Amino acid sequence: MNLKEFEKSTGSAANTDLMPVLFVGHGSPMNAIEQNEFTAGWHSMVESITIPRAILCISAHWETDGTLVTAMPQPRTIHDFFGFPDQLFRVQYPAPGSLQTAFETRDEVHSVDMRLDQTWGLDHGCWSVLRHMFPDATIPVVQLSLNYNLSPAAHFNLATELSRLRRKGILVIGSGNMVHNLRMINWHSPDGGDEWATAANEILKKLIREGNHKKLVDYTLLGKEVQLAVPTPEHYLPLLYVLAMQENNEQISFFNDKAVFGSISMTSIKIN
Ligand code: ZN
Repeated sequence: MNLKEFEKSTGSAANTDLMPVLFVGHGSPMNAIEQNEFTAGWHSMVESITIPRAILCISAHWETDGTLVTAMPQPRTIHDFFGFPDQLFRVQYPAPGSLQTAFETRDEVHSVDMRLDQTWGLDHGCWSVLRHMFPDATIPVVQLSLNYNLSPAAHFNLATELSRLRRKGILVIGSGNMVHNLRMINWHSPDGGDEWATAANEILKKLIREGNHKKLVDYTLLGKEVQLAVPTPEHYLPLLYVLAMQENNEQISFFNDKAVFGSISMTSIKIN
């Protein structure tokens, strides 16, 4: 199949409806093979939205030197974890890629030099969730990396440039966790959040509801609970990408709003 035929096969029809934007708390890789309240939440969320032409996923688990977008016809399923059952390592998510979506993504962005990538694929931040949302794996998926040289404000700015993709039938999904501190895991609390984690989750939700993006970008100034919730930026930054694409007067709804193991919130967001 040549490039033209490939692009044709992945669809090029213009879709001017404004697609929603999603932030999903992905939590443990085991969610990929479990059926639980969170996977049910992801599954039912999809029933309320238009089927996208393609998906652009920003995962916490792809940090790079520079900003990259995957551009391959068939991205591999990356098992980027260890110490889990064989069953999880056998999971494949054989969604096609989309060179067209990669080009469109790159062409929207002017604040940084975005490069096409042929080596990555789909990491578990992406496929563990998509497997429940789109089990047929027929919708093309492209991943955008988190450039570890950029400030939170620069990530937010880059994301605003991507917002036009929403009018091109592309579903943007940020995959991370608003509260994510593996050092503070509380094995005695599999079904809830410790006090600081619950407080941080509520602080962030309030700012999200208020549309206070400035404070959310400057999250390091939000006090000790949020500092504990975001000890490193990678699980938080996908949230900034999603919020940056919110248009005026668009609604935000929360789902899977619950913490697990004391220090991880699964709180997810739909903007539309
Ligand atoms: Zn993760």
